[in-house]
Amino acid sequence: MATLGDPKKTIEILNKYHFVFQKKFGQNFLIDTHVLDKIIRAAEITKDDLVLEIGPGIGTLTQYLCENARKVVAVEIDRMLIPILKEDTLAEYDNVEIINDDILKVDIGKIVEEKNNGRPIKVVANLPYYITTPIVMSLLEKDLPIESITVMVQKEVAERMQASPGTKDYGALSLAVQYRADTYIAANVPPNCFMPRPAVGSCVIRLRKKDEPPVSVSSPELMFKLIRAAFNQRRKTLLNALANSSEVPYGKEEILKAITETGIKETIRGEVLGLKEFGELTDKLLG
Ligand code: SAM
Repeated sequence: MATLGDPKKTIEILNKYHFVFQKKFGQNFLIDTHVLDKIIRAAEITKDDLVLEIGPGIGTLTQYLCENARKVVAVEIDRMLIPILKEDTLAEYDNVEIINDDILKVDIGKIVEEKNNGRPIKVVANLPYYITTPIVMSLLEKDLPIESITVMVQKEVAERMQASPGTKDYGALSLAVQYRADTYIAANVPPNCFMPRPAVGSCVIRLRKKDEPPVSVSSPELMFKLIRAAFNQRRKTLLNALANSSEVPYGKEEILKAITETGIKETIRGEVLGLKEFGELTDKLLG
C-alpha cells in the first residue's frame, strides 16, 4: 500500500533520515494524493507497462507507479536518497529497480532493450525544473522507444511545449514536442502541493508519441541541429544563425542556396518558421 503522499508522512521520513533538500537538484517533493492520482490516470499505466521514473525523490510517486505498473525503473541523482528508497519507502516492492545516476547519462535505449524486450516504455516524472528542457529534448530528439511521457513541469514550460510559430514562447522545445507528440494538459498544480513550495505554478502534461511525424524529413537529426542553431541565436537572421553554428555542417553559401530553394526570405528569423519549413530546409541541404 502506498504510504506516502501527505505532508505528515513526508516530514516523518525526512526527519528520520535527517534529509537536507538540495536546491541544485530541483527537489520539490509532492505532498498531495489527488495530484498523484491524476498523474497515474493521465499516464494510463497498466500492469503490462515498464515505467521509467526520473527523480523518485523519497519515492512518493514511485509507490503509486509500483502499484499500477508491471515494473518501475527509477533514476535518482542524489545518493543521499538511495538508502531512503531502498531500505524504507520502496522496500516492500519487488517490481522496482533504483539506479543512482544522472538521467542525462543513462542509456535509455539499453533499459528498453534489456528490461522490456525493446517494447516501448512510459516515462513518468515530477521533473527537476532546472533541467526540464534538456531532459525532454533528449527523450524526444533521439526517437527512443517511448510510448508516452507524463511529466510535472513549470506552467510556463508546458506553454512553451504547445506554442505556435512567431509567439514569444515558441522555440526548439515547441518544435521537438510537436514533431514527436500530441500534448494534453492533465492538471494545473499550485505550489502548495509540493515541499518545499516552488516559486511558480506547475502543470501535469502528457506527451503521447505520434504514430507518424507531421512532416516527413530525411534526417530528423539534422533538422534538430538546424532548429537548435536557429533558436540559440534567435535575434539573428536564419542564415547567420545557421552559418555561425558549429553544429550545422554546411557553409554559408550552401545554406543560402537551400534557404532560397525552400522559398524562404534570407532575412527571416528562425523563430517564425514552422516544422514544415525546417523539414524542407533540411531536405534541401541534403540535396
Ligand atoms: N518524484 C519525487 C516527488 O514527486 O516527490 C521528487 C521530484 S523532485 C521535483 C525531482 C527529483 O529529481 C529529485 O529527487 C532530484 O534529486 C532528482 N534529480 C535532479 N536532477 C536529476 C538528474 N539529472 N537525474 C536524475 N534525477 C535527478
